Amino acid sequence: MEIERQKLRVHSSLEQPKTPEDLRARQLRARDLLRGDLEGADLDAYVEERVATSTLEKVLNTARANSIFPATFGLACCAIEMMSTVSPRYDIARFGAEAFRASPRQADLLILSGRVSIKMAPVVRRIYDQMLEPKWAISMGACSSSGGMFSNYAVVQGADKFMPVDVHVPGCPPRPEALLYGFNKLQEKIRGNPTPGWRSRYNAHGTEEWARGGPASKPSEEALEAYEKAREVLGA
Ligand code: SF4
Repeated sequence: MEIERQKLRVHSSLEQPKTPEDLRARQLRARDLLRGDLEGADLDAYVEERVATSTLEKVLNTARANSIFPATFGLACCAIEMMSTVSPRYDIARFGAEAFRASPRQADLLILSGRVSIKMAPVVRRIYDQMLEPKWAISMGACSSSGGMFSNYAVVQGADKFMPVDVHVPGCPPRPEALLYGFNKLQEKIRGNPTPGWRSRYNAHGTEEWARGGPASKPSEEALEAYEKAREVLGA
């Protein structure tokens, strides 16, 4: 039997091994590194290929964004769509958020999936308060974002009236893909590089329609102030 000898400590680029022998060579190099047998130029090459530097803050934020634990909590019909995001078809596990927690004390994301009645608002707020910092909230669907079709005394006209909301997902109900998109936006926010809104991207400031009154309505002073502050924060 002929034995072919192969040099193990060669500098190779970080791509998929093409043959089982390449894979074996890579495994042996990794073993040498762990044992402390890799030295000199070989060690430099190995480190240059595999090590990336960053700041602790960025690493922490990336870890946080990719290991979110949503609370097991649903409010109305939107919750059915939220439940399907954990199914194999939509698979929120791809983004590291498949473990819905049964206690707010173990959760860091509250998805408001449905209309919030006036009676339910204090309960939602209590659940949010019981979650530990850092924590986030997604308002899913027209009802929790603005009251939706329920313009009446029994339903809160937007959950951000009684708690902070980080991302609003439009739709009635939003499809699971829409919720996943909103979730990705939240991840970008947690990583510290939120994308600017579409009005900033398309230079469309001044086209806002103020809630409830339609395009011709005037915003209240408070709404204008909040809007200007939000633009300042976004740098828009
Ligand atoms: S937005 Fe539509 S689907 Fe969601 S809770 Fe309201 S009525 Fe139901």
